[in-house]
Amino acid sequence: MTEKQGRVFSGARPTGRQHLGNYLGAIKNYVALQADYRCVYCIVDVHALTTIDTTRDLKLNTREMALDWLAAGMDPNESIIFVQSHVLEVMELHTYLSMVTQLGKLTALPTFKEKVRDNPDNVNYGLVGYPVLMSADILLYKADAVPVGTDQIPHIEFAREIVRSFNHRYQTDILVEPHAKVTEIPKVLGIDGERKMSKSLNNHIELAATPEETRKRVMEMVTDPQRIRRSDPGNPDICNVFTLHKIFSSPEEVAEINQDCRKAEIGCVDCKKKLAANLNNNLEPFRLRRFELDKDPDYVRDILLDGAIRARVIASETMRQVRAAIGFFGSGE
Ligand code: SF4
Repeated sequence: MTEKQGRVFSGARPTGRQHLGNYLGAIKNYVALQADYRCVYCIVDVHALTTIDTTRDLKLNTREMALDWLAAGMDPNESIIFVQSHVLEVMELHTYLSMVTQLGKLTALPTFKEKVRDNPDNVNYGLVGYPVLMSADILLYKADAVPVGTDQIPHIEFAREIVRSFNHRYQTDILVEPHAKVTEIPKVLGIDGERKMSKSLNNHIELAATPEETRKRVMEMVTDPQRIRRSDPGNPDICNVFTLHKIFSSPEEVAEINQDCRKAEIGCVDCKKKLAANLNNNLEPFRLRRFELDKDPDYVRDILLDGAIRARVIASETMRQVRAAIGFFGSGE
């Protein structure tokens, strides 16, 4: 077995059943990273509280998301997979980090301004401190690397700044500056062909949907808007159906569609039927596995609780060092 290179941390909000955008944008990469890194994957349910109106679906969404993660190949034997609220040390570290973070920096962040725009009636204290809690997530586990898209690099830079502030303030080196592991994250458009695939926009295709539901969603997909009649030549380069063909269909089929679409030798209905069939074939092993895992009602809970126990081993050691570095009475060292 090859030696793993370091520790990766990543967190995602509990959004329930995952869709193709989640899979192509994150889960696929999470699975691949397991071969080379010691991975810590967290369902960040505390973060979710900053913007959700009700926690009615929180438990269900956490379970459904974890079930999708596990069925997709995130392996609890290779990685630590757990829920943020199960490891309370993160709250404590968040408090200490908040005291080496300037408020002005937080309110100047573009992500904060964006969140204020999206939630004008609920600009809560947690929303301002969101990047501090996110940094605490990463630093608690002393992650060397955090997989991100280019747009998230500033978050990692922010966490690195907090590390420097903390280590400087307490003359220590116990917190580790994480690095952004920049990953090419494909932007997966929804079935509207315009906006990023998202559950809240209802333009998504769920991984765990039935083959028939999947087919229905694919048939609703918006194609090349210039192609009005069957006899009009199309342009696959601007068609989201073709983008998904490139991911889920064979190279031969992709080449054929590319040609036939431009010469109007294939209609959009047939093209979508092919995509739906290939998508369902690709997702079948995932769906079977999900069905099997779901048979045991305690499986997901047990995996997540075990993950929390393993996460806490790392977290409690980090906090022991943090308390000692700060110099609390009775903290040892
Ligand atoms: S034939 Fe296929 S690739 Fe061409 S416009 Fe229609 S759906 Fe898109």
